[in-house]
Amino acid sequence: MTMATAAGAMSLSQSLKAMEDSLPEQDTMMPAFFIGHGSPMNAIEDNAVTRGWKEAMKNVPKPKAILCVSAHWLTKGTWVTAMPKPRTIHDFRGFPKELTEATYPVSGSTEIAQAISSSISEPTVGLDQKWGLDHGAWSILLPVFPNTDVPVLEFSIDYDQPAQWHYELGQKLTGLRKRGVLIIGSGNIVHNLGMLNPRLADKGFDWAIAFDDKLKSLIQKQDHQSIIDYGKLGREATLSVPTPDHYYPLLYSLGLQTKFDRVSLFNEQSVMGSISMTSVKIEHDPSVSG
Ligand code: ZN
Repeated sequence: MTMATAAGAMSLSQSLKAMEDSLPEQDTMMPAFFIGHGSPMNAIEDNAVTRGWKEAMKNVPKPKAILCVSAHWLTKGTWVTAMPKPRTIHDFRGFPKELTEATYPVSGSTEIAQAISSSISEPTVGLDQKWGLDHGAWSILLPVFPNTDVPVLEFSIDYDQPAQWHYELGQKLTGLRKRGVLIIGSGNIVHNLGMLNPRLADKGFDWAIAFDDKLKSLIQKQDHQSIIDYGKLGREATLSVPTPDHYYPLLYSLGLQTKFDRVSLFNEQSVMGSISMTSVKIEHDPSVSG
């Protein structure tokens, strides 16, 4: 299956050198995002959602690399894609040819994958050669970064681990923001496919709106612990997060937030009853010194 990481064999000084070579420290902190990705059709549509993504990312400095924590790559252990040319994975069915034939022909980077892996001592982050880019990554990147001139890596979600663990792993990735890596958590705050109602095109069920509103308030209050402990938020949480795959990417993004950041929300919209597109931008706040 996937190759084991070589990072464990590297000495600390070798790891630091590898990091300095491939991702030198920058003067500025890269913003970080949580993106509600919704339907794969967003990859090829010009709509309110994709325009919201473009607007939120238009002033982002050109990254050295993009690292996407995708709801659609659930694994045992934690992995980062390390192949030079990640394939475009069409991990969906029943969509038009225009989408199934769309590709995102971008480079990956073995060196950057090694640097990311070696920057985290616990857990071991394996170097993956098999996966590629699922639609959690490329459906956002195709409209927002159509030039495919920034290497893209995906980061997997160890589905055996609890919410707190994912938040803390997000915290361990914070240093990459200082090295020009644009980190995007890609999922949905409310994501219940079993309750999907296409007739409710741009509307949400009451419980979906209530949970989304609750989360927005907790994000703005920076009450991350209540977000991690979402299971205590009652019936709305049970319905909105029936499985945590699309919720965990939010925890990575919030883990990246420092005390020098401000947070803003965009695409605050429910769709098809049981999905929310609410997205989060985390960026350095120039009014906070440090
Ligand atoms: Zn999805």
